[in-house]
This record gives sequence, structure tokens and C-alpha cells, in this order.
Amino acid sequence: MPPLAFEGLQALQQADLQLDALRAEAEHIEDALADHGEIDEARRTLARLTATHEHAHGALRDAELALASVTDQVEQKSKLLYSGTVVSSRELEALQADIDQLMQQRATREESALQAMVAAEEAEAARDEQQDRLDALTTSFAAKQEEGGARLQELATEIPLREREREALLSQNDPVLLATYNSLRARVGGRVLVAVSQGRCTFCHITLPDTLLRQTQHSEKVVFCDSCGRMLFAPR
Ligand SMILES: [Zn+2]
Repeated sequence: MPPLAFEGLQALQQADLQLDALRAEAEHIEDALADHGEIDEARRTLARLTATHEHAHGALRDAELALASVTDQVEQKSKLLYSGTVVSSRELEALQADIDQLMQQRATREESALQAMVAAEEAEAARDEQQDRLDALTTSFAAKQEEGGARLQELATEIPLREREREALLSQNDPVLLATYNSLRARVGGRVLVAVSQGRCTFCHITLPDTLLRQTQHSEKVVFCDSCGRMLFAPR
């Protein structure tokens, strides 16, 4: 029986591994371009912050109106107080008491308006910041789309080319060896033909028994690693 020739299988495996990498790259790009999650999330956050800002802005307007109204009342009562039309001391005292109470109310409303203003400004800043974040995400996603799209086009040409190259390698292999390689690859994937070096499997690094090593050196039958189950060959 002639020794098994692993050169053809090594070339085939090289082509398969390259194809694996190219297909994985294409898949990775497609996944990345299909994923709008981050932008969608940023948009939802922006909508929420915009609503918060509108609400805070409305509250500020209400607080300012309430302040203006009490200020107006204070002015009118003060005018009346000093107009000379009210002469009875009891009425004057009552008027003064009203004014004092309105002044207190005004102080409270001033405080509220100030708080509402701070809240509105904070809400506006948060909204603007989120808008900037969304703009940056949109820009970088567009760049990613352009770059990824260009690479996908390259891959769409390269992958079929490599597939044809792989096809051409099939005829250079012993059918039995090829069948073993294919079924092992379908089962475990990746690198299934593994060199022996210094008495070890170069995939799982286990030290191989002498009988197995001798078999790989004679290359008369397919030998599998005891530990990882891959096909072994002794490089010449
Ligand atoms: Zn192994």
C-alpha cells in the first residue's frame, strides 16, 4: 500500500480555513450592519428627555405666570394704600395685612420659579447632550455602513473565487482520505488535519503513544489523535 499523501489535504484545509474566515467576516459585518439597537435606544432616550424638557418648560411658564400675578396684586394694593382713597385706619390696616400676605406668597413663588428655571435648564442641557450623542452615533453608523458595504462587495467577489479554487483541489486528493477529512470537518469544524511535532499533537498538545507515532511515520492508514480525535500526519 503506498503511503498516504497529505500534501493535497493540507492545501485543501488551507483553502477551507481561508473560506471559513472570509465567510465569518461577511457574517460579522452583516450582523453589525443589521444591528440598530444602540441608535434606537439613543432615539428613545432622546424622546424621553425631550418630553421631560417640554414638561419642565411648561412648569417654568406656569411658575412665572403665578409670580407675575401675585406681583401685580401687590402693586395694585400698594397703589391703593398710598392713593389716599382709603382713609379708615381699620381698612388701611387690613390692606397692609393683605399686602404682607401677598409679599410672603410672592417670596414663595419666586423660589418656585427659580427652581423651575434650574430644572428647565438642566432638562434642556440633558436633551441637547443626548441629541449630540445620537448625531455622533448616526454619523459613525453611516461610516460603518459605507465601510462594511464596500468590504461585503469585495467578499462577494472573493468568496466564490476561493470556492472555485477549493473545488480544483478536490481532485488532487485520495477519495478515502477526503471522505474522512470531510466528515471530521462537518463534525468538529476548523482545523482537523493536524501535524505531529516532537511526539505531540500540535492541536491539543498531548504526547502521543509510540505506536501511534510509528503509524503516522509510515502513513499507511489514517491515524487519529487519542485526545482530540483529529487526523494526524507526520510532516516530511
Ligand atoms: Zn490532539
